Amino acid sequence: MKLITNLFIIFYCCLIQAQQTDFVDFKTAKASVEFGSLDDNRIGGKVSYQYEILKDVDSIFLDAKDFSMVECLLNNEFIAAKYDGNHLVIKHNFKKNEIYTLDIIWKTNPKKALYFVNKGDEKQVWTQGQGKYTSNWLPSIDDMNEKIEFDLSIVVKNTYQVVANGKLIDIENYEGFNRWNFDMQQPMSSYLVALAIGKYDKKVETSKSGIPLEMYYYPEDSLKFEPTYRYTKQMFDFLEEEIGVPYPWQNYKQVPVKDFLYAGMENTSITIFSDTYLIDSISFIDKNYVNVNAHELAHQWFGNLVTETSGTHHWLQEGFATYYALLAEKDIFGDHFYYWQLYHYVQELLEQEKAGGNTALLDPKSSGTTFYKKGALALYILREKVGDKAFKSAIKNYLKKHEFKNVETNDFISEVEKASGKDLSEFVKLWLESDAFESDLVIESIKQSKFMNDYLKVDCQGDKSKYADYLNSKISDEAKIKLISENPNFIRKEDFNNSLKVRQAIAKSLSKIPSELNSDYETLLDDKSYITIEIALYNLWNNFPESRHEYLAKTKHLQGFNDKNIRTLWLTLALITEDFEQENKSEYFEELTNYTNPSNHFEIRQNAFQYLKLINACNEKCQENLEQAAKHPVWQFSKMAKDLLKK
Ligand SMILES: [Zn+2]
Repeated sequence: MKLITNLFIIFYCCLIQAQQTDFVDFKTAKASVEFGSLDDNRIGGKVSYQYEILKDVDSIFLDAKDFSMVECLLNNEFIAAKYDGNHLVIKHNFKKNEIYTLDIIWKTNPKKALYFVNKGDEKQVWTQGQGKYTSNWLPSIDDMNEKIEFDLSIVVKNTYQVVANGKLIDIENYEGFNRWNFDMQQPMSSYLVALAIGKYDKKVETSKSGIPLEMYYYPEDSLKFEPTYRYTKQMFDFLEEEIGVPYPWQNYKQVPVKDFLYAGMENTSITIFSDTYLIDSISFIDKNYVNVNAHELAHQWFGNLVTETSGTHHWLQEGFATYYALLAEKDIFGDHFYYWQLYHYVQELLEQEKAGGNTALLDPKSSGTTFYKKGALALYILREKVGDKAFKSAIKNYLKKHEFKNVETNDFISEVEKASGKDLSEFVKLWLESDAFESDLVIESIKQSKFMNDYLKVDCQGDKSKYADYLNSKISDEAKIKLISENPNFIRKEDFNNSLKVRQAIAKSLSKIPSELNSDYETLLDDKSYITIEIALYNLWNNFPESRHEYLAKTKHLQGFNDKNIRTLWLTLALITEDFEQENKSEYFEELTNYTNPSNHFEIRQNAFQYLKLINACNEKCQENLEQAAKHPVWQFSKMAKDLLKK
């Protein structure tokens, strides 16, 4: 009978899953989540849902994955619910137009969507709902068409801070614990429910419109605050103005966390981002948080205020966030930057086309490149077609009409048609329904920028004197970089008298360094760029063995980015350079091996594993850490570990 019962439940659940929003409207959720000792990765809690029945029905369900204990009370009375490890089914004669209260008490040890991370001797807890399902830690509705006002209340040891959706109302003290009470005023899909627990300091700015912008950072990283959050307020003010609809939530928080699965995630009013973007001012040159910052912020409207009904309309979130982030960056960095990025989106899509990977924007299986880049370019072309005024008014009407609800592509297109008076069926066919990518249209359009037009034309056709003429002229850095990387043999002494970016291109292009350029190339070790220094150190070490000690001595105290790109390279070179600080070698080896430990950021560990494997020095400890790394939640990292284990 078990098999039949199970089959029945599965069929039953799937049948009602498609329709539940037709007969139940979940209104509010008051959830109390308790973190005992953060060491055992266990949580428990109680959530109280209020919902209205829209049609008479004999059962409702919630998603709840792998809970070890679940109990339910319907209108304050215990009720036996069916729980199959995935769904919680409550049978009852629910009557139309009535409001019910359902309390769920649960315990679990979440396998995903809520992560416990070691950061040195401390703990961090953070969530990732999109793609992982919040129902792994909070009984909820996975269907993003169900929007609920979630008020979270989090209990945790009093040495930790909590950041979650909404406004912090108060903190209640218990013996050794605090209860953090948050209030939301508007509904959201469950994949946007989020919290982060850790040790943080914060600074708060206020937007032009009066929204508090809370920016979190690690207490030991106060010097990284400014470069990390540079332009935050400017971008916030810009997007509110550009979109024409006020920011929809009570406040906006940004919290960095260790070993995050992605660059950032736009949970409602709380963006969680990878602490790899907590950067110093040198890192800012090559790798900064500006784009991720703007992208996640734009999602607060496109994704959170209006949410796709299904994956078919995913570009309404990612294409829009990419496009609006680019507009915010244009406001900061100017037109060159803007057209340059558009040009790169085209290149990325052309690469995808070459690999046979192009799909329609409305294909739910499309790649990130299609959803993000083709989506942004579609909006760029659409705006060119209908003009700024109609575009902006359509965006405003679209957001206002569907606020706190779900949307499909046609909801947007029909607003643009209304505002512009234009028939967009041709645009829809070409840009949304077709697999093809209209690269020529975009290239033609971005040639209106003189900078891009010049860039596309510049070509020395393998002629050294033409190369010299160009490099001596007033062409853009991007054009110089193009010539340098295409003609590394032509690089001259005077080409080193250029900007950081051009010098970086020289560093990259010259893996074989002519002896007459040796002293110029050595000056790259002084550049304020961790990429340039890393490449220059390796190339110099490789090209001029007689000066290895000198190069190592000069770069001994550098760490590089948060992933310690320079330090891990330096340790590796120090270990394999004959006669170099023989007495310190075991210490250097230990340092490099210790970087493979799980308490380090996965990016540091990745570098350490790769270098240790490269020089055949991954000892027992390193091997053990590598096996542990193969189970890491960041898939790129676990894949690298698995690949290295195979070798
Ligand atoms: Zn996004």
